Amino acid sequence: MSKNYYLPTRVVSGIDCIRENAGRFAALGKAALIVTGGRSAKITGALQDVEEALASQGIRYAVYDKVTANPTIPCAYDGAEAARAFGADFIVAIGGGSPMDAAKAMALLAAQTISPDKLFSGSYLPEALPIAAVPTTAGTGSEVTQYSILTNDAAETKTSIATELIFPAIAFLDARYTESLPFETTVNTTIDALSHAVEGMLSVRASTFSDLQAKRSLHAIASTFPALLIWKRGETQGLSRAQRETLLFASTLAGMVIAQTGTTAVHAMGYSLTYFKHVDHGRANGLLLGRYLAFAAEKNPERVASILSAGGFSNPDVFTDSLENLLGKRESIDPEEAEKYAKLAAKTKNIANGIIPTTTEDMRQIYLDALNGNK
Ligand code: NAP
Ligand code: FE
Repeated sequence: MSKNYYLPTRVVSGIDCIRENAGRFAALGKAALIVTGGRSAKITGALQDVEEALASQGIRYAVYDKVTANPTIPCAYDGAEAARAFGADFIVAIGGGSPMDAAKAMALLAAQTISPDKLFSGSYLPEALPIAAVPTTAGTGSEVTQYSILTNDAAETKTSIATELIFPAIAFLDARYTESLPFETTVNTTIDALSHAVEGMLSVRASTFSDLQAKRSLHAIASTFPALLIWKRGETQGLSRAQRETLLFASTLAGMVIAQTGTTAVHAMGYSLTYFKHVDHGRANGLLLGRYLAFAAEKNPERVASILSAGGFSNPDVFTDSLENLLGKRESIDPEEAEKYAKLAAKTKNIANGIIPTTTEDMRQIYLDALNGNK
């Protein structure tokens, strides 16, 4: 099978990188819609840095700050309407995966008319507003992917718009913006990135290029686990700036991986935990990831060994224990839920994207073992 590696996003990184590269906004347009959540863009200082950079270039801007976690389809249409009304010719997304994903859908919907029933079709006119992305979490990698993941009530899950049209033109990585993240969001987002690196290596589309990045990301993420545990025990106030930079680097790397490979069964299964049980996205993956790797190890021990060794884990149990230490008490699931969620996951494209054959029955069992099983 031939392999493909494509990443059109310019990545600018480093402390104060927005101010130092303000001129790069001018290449995107003359009027920007800045898309954020309610709070984080402001408290991190990222919004102010973007506003100053735009003003320094004589770029008009308006702020749309109504994106909530796990953004909805109506939110994407609402923001696109705001972009049109303002006459925006580009979008600046600031926040975690939720504002970035919503902004990417808005960039598409502001440039062309797509009815809700065609939103996930993948067949679009070759038009979208350019996007600049500023992550304030270190997890999703959305700043370098062609995906916008929206809550899809009709399908009772989360569904991706996947099109090269919404690759951000530029991503600004400044780890200072992640320093205000509390412990729980830090862990959940870190584990989302870990899950991207692991699932990227379990994808049929994995290549030497994506594997290199996945292993480097896994190594970097695992290197922060001791500091996260010390923080959890209350022995420190949080992570150092260097550790925040490591996590942001690792999450963007893992984003570069899934831009090539897509995600696989763990994300497919995690979506139901988020949709029905309101478990945070990264945490949902983390609850399932260890058990899924143990299952995968039975089918493809070499591949799983190479994943684990990149993170310095000797076997799937050590890996699962490390995650469990960070995630704390697990949510539980009842058998009817496990059956329903497994059937929903089986319908997603992610399943065919994995190298490990995974049936609905396998997933039902993994849900039960991962959430209710004895250690
Ligand atoms: P998020 O939903 O964007 O944000 C979670 C919470 O953290 C929000 O309350 C947010 O506040 C807050 N927050 C963000 N940055 C903060 C900071 N620096 N300090 C303090 N609080 C902060 O979380 P996420 O995990 O980054 O994104 C999850 C979403 O991304 C899911 O919808 C998932 O499906 C999607 N995702 C996308 C991709 C992709 O390739 N596109 C990949 C994986 C996951 P505000 O609301 O105020 O911003
Ligand atoms: Fe994810």
